[in-house]
Amino acid sequence: MSVCLRQPQTCLRRVWRRAWETNHHPRPGSSANLATAEVFPLSTWTTSTQLPVVYKYPLLAGRELWGCTFINLDSLKTTDHNMLPPEPKPFDADQLNQPDQTLYDWVWQSPSPTLELAQSPLFKKPAHFLTLEERTRLTYERAKKICDAYSLTVEDILLLSPKFWKLQTDPIAAVDGGALTLISIQYNLFMGTVAPFAASRPDLQWILQRALSFEISAQFMLTEVGHGLDARNLETTATLLPDGGFELHSPSWAAAKCMPPTTPRSGLPVVAVVIARLIVEGENYGVRPFLVPLGDGREMCKGVVAKALPPRAGAHPIDHSLTLFNRVVLPNSALLGSLEKPRNERDHFFSTIQRVSAGTLFLSGASIPALKLAVYNAAQFSLRRRVTGHDGNPMAVIKFRTQHLPILHAIAQYHVLQAFLVQAATIFRNRKVDPRVRHAIATVFKAAALQHFQKSIKALNDGCGWHGYYEHNQILQSELEFRAVGTAEGDIRVLAIRLASELLIGRYQLPSPKDPNSPVALHEAALWTEAKTHLIEFGGMHRSEDFNRNILPLSLPLIQAIGHRMALEAAKETNIDSKLCALYESGVILEDSAWYTEQGGISRRAQREMEAQAADALLPDLERLVYEAGAAPYSSAPMASERLWNTFVSELEVFSGEASFDIGTSPV
Ligand SMILES: Cc1cc2nc3c(=O)[nH]c(=O)nc-3n(C[C@H](O)[C@H](O)[C@H](O)COP(=O)(O)OP(=O)(O)OC[C@H]3O[C@@H](n4cnc5c(N)ncnc54)[C@H](O)[C@@H]3O)c2cc1C
Repeated sequence: MSVCLRQPQTCLRRVWRRAWETNHHPRPGSSANLATAEVFPLSTWTTSTQLPVVYKYPLLAGRELWGCTFINLDSLKTTDHNMLPPEPKPFDADQLNQPDQTLYDWVWQSPSPTLELAQSPLFKKPAHFLTLEERTRLTYERAKKICDAYSLTVEDILLLSPKFWKLQTDPIAAVDGGALTLISIQYNLFMGTVAPFAASRPDLQWILQRALSFEISAQFMLTEVGHGLDARNLETTATLLPDGGFELHSPSWAAAKCMPPTTPRSGLPVVAVVIARLIVEGENYGVRPFLVPLGDGREMCKGVVAKALPPRAGAHPIDHSLTLFNRVVLPNSALLGSLEKPRNERDHFFSTIQRVSAGTLFLSGASIPALKLAVYNAAQFSLRRRVTGHDGNPMAVIKFRTQHLPILHAIAQYHVLQAFLVQAATIFRNRKVDPRVRHAIATVFKAAALQHFQKSIKALNDGCGWHGYYEHNQILQSELEFRAVGTAEGDIRVLAIRLASELLIGRYQLPSPKDPNSPVALHEAALWTEAKTHLIEFGGMHRSEDFNRNILPLSLPLIQAIGHRMALEAAKETNIDSKLCALYESGVILEDSAWYTEQGGISRRAQREMEAQAADALLPDLERLVYEAGAAPYSSAPMASERLWNTFVSELEVFSGEASFDIGTSPV
């Protein structure tokens, strides 16, 4: 079956419509039979005080069939899993910003290969009754199944193909962020580091193939307890032995590798790229990657000690650990690359960890599906939840401006970010572009994406009342799980400081604005002028205390300002609905309301009016936009569905009895 590229949204809609119709009117002989039925014990109570909701979009209401009554897998199988993405257009230095509409459509509008998987027991079965070990193993199993659904090749990972982008931004990432973390480490950091060496080392193919199919757990060990963002000074040593092998050693607790999950809890053999300092005849030859077996899935290898860290708040459990090496002997084949001392130690270090910057871009791209799912759950809740209006009639809370505004903003943000990600990824994978610029684009995208994600996810959750404080409604969990993306694969504060410093001192430049007179471009230019003025005032000393005092706090807003402008340009060039662009623009103006009032010539009232008009224009499309995001099959939030709510209540622990208790009051 070929991929429907021309009208992917129609194609997706057809799949869902068929599933919906079949589930409501199962045909004899269809696969909607007992084998595929999930029966939920409905509560005998009237569990909801809500009146039935009349949905404008029946398909949005039809979402309630996911996980209920019958799941017609045949209808889902109409999605094409053997997807062939279009290749990004060849690079042209003069057209750095050239949008690629076909690629955009393929990445964001073709059906996800995980649509069917999201309905399987592996993802639907409640996990709260499992032990920590069982839940950890479940995260690994889910990661493997997601990768199976995509069937990437080593080349997809090496060359950062659009299939790799799609995997990293799949909606299932919002269901289990732990699985996405594992995939990101295994595919991007481990395979992305090892694969370039395989061209001259065919022996590496075996381990690459096993990592690809998740038969092993593959890790990347850079960070040490004593050396996080200054990892260039890490302490783990790999000393060359007389027979050509190496002795891997952690000289102190500060050298313990931290965060990579290395224990036998996955049940899989564990192999890692360990970044260590190469010592040859007592001399420091710089930081190098070594391929090291850590465990066989039952126990750790000799000399390797892992101490499992407790689960991260809100996150799906992974066995993040502290890992130490006690004089572990490695063969000479463990070293990836040559023994020779590099001419430029700094450049060599950054090329050794080059896949971290790919993670900077693609891991932050996962904020897009996370926002989509949060929007779906918050919108469904807000449509269902009713209060008595001024006229005495029931009214859905979605009608309140304070309720639908954060939903509309988040929708506008993820559409604009989708366009920006395709553009950023196209530039990032192009080796003809200055590596510093490629890294800079990744940082700019991450700064904007995380800013929008963190603000919106909280605002969406704040509108869900008490339901919002529970992980099972997915928004809080997503917020906690993805908060770590601000630190993992490039701490955004420090990335922004580094980039702002390099741009200020003119080491290289990013693409300049297409329309220098647009409000966001004027804002960006003014912020940079302000920072440059500061720099001139203290004599251009970028390693000074003045720089620390005055420029560091400006760095993140400077990079976010570039991000807003680039994101909006990408959205306009990708023909994103102008109503969505208008709301996005009004949102970023309000992010620095003071500047626009002081210098941009837009009063506070005018800024609010811009936002109000953009929201008015978009409001009639809200339900359609929520439905088109495709997050419904990935929702398991009881607050978002009458049926899931009933199931949830029926499974709660019940307390009742015959007791009577005198509370000591006398009759009046
Ligand atoms: C979910 C998750 C998964 C991870 N997986 C891996 C993995 O697989 N492999 C791996 O090796 N590591 C992994 N890490 C670790 C990650 O790479 C580090 O957390 C990251 O590099 C930052 O190091 P640190 O946490 O030690 O921060 P620190 O270096 O302790 O910095 C803490 C804070 O100090 C400030 N700071 C530090 N330096 C500067 C500076 N130069 N200028 C200004 N401010 C500064 C910043 O505010 C920074 O946030 C993971 C982390 C997370 C959260």
